[in-house]
Amino acid sequence: MFSFMKRRSFLSLIVSAPLFANEHLQSSDIYLDAIEYASLRALNQRLKRLRAFIGYANFNVISYQDALFYARNYPKIGAFTSQELSLVERFFYEDPRQYGFYGKRTCTNIENIIADKEVIKIPYTGHYIFKGEAEQKFHRLSKDVGETLILTSGVRNVIKQLSLYVNKIDHCHGNITKASISLAPPGYSYHTISDFDVGRKGWGYKNFTASFAQTQEFSRLRGLDYIRIRYTENNTDGVRFEPWHVEIT
Ligand SMILES: [Zn+2]
Repeated sequence: MFSFMKRRSFLSLIVSAPLFANEHLQSSDIYLDAIEYASLRALNQRLKRLRAFIGYANFNVISYQDALFYARNYPKIGAFTSQELSLVERFFYEDPRQYGFYGKRTCTNIENIIADKEVIKIPYTGHYIFKGEAEQKFHRLSKDVGETLILTSGVRNVIKQLSLYVNKIDHCHGNITKASISLAPPGYSYHTISDFDVGRKGWGYKNFTASFAQTQEFSRLRGLDYIRIRYTENNTDGVRFEPWHVEIT
């Protein structure tokens, strides 16, 4: 951690000019600098190659150590560079409140392992759900809402959450503050320990927009006393309204 901190402050000294100067002037959002942003984009591509190599479903649960192993041993992926690993550590260990994310940390171990026996694969989704309460609630919910309700995201270990976060920051042109409104940093997602997302069959990306709240599936789900939505409107975590995200205690 300490060598990584030193390297970071050194880099920020030599690269003082922000990448997107105009946007910097207009808001207090925090951006990656030019060197960090280049590493982030390389990291994003490497994680996509890893996902293609091990498969979408496996990618949801793979551990940090296994990801490093595959990257190191398979040239199709290629080993993570030290700059990329610095970013990974930074995103996992730093305090995201600086970006306006106030959710609780759900995972303290970057090497968190999710064992096969802890989860169950839901057919035709490429996703897993934790056995026990999450599995029971998902089946009960499917029965009560009907077959147009689908699982859109389940268990996500650190690498999967990292990849979503990195991809979001890439899409936000290095604006970490903006990315953190719609995605928890790795180590802060409830998908790593319990929760899952549902959607309406055939709705694609719209399942991850506020439009999901207008569906019949959502209104049925809303009427069930055993289901709670984690990120309601104006939640104190600083996360956008997510009507699709089911809270499991
Ligand atoms: Zn979710």
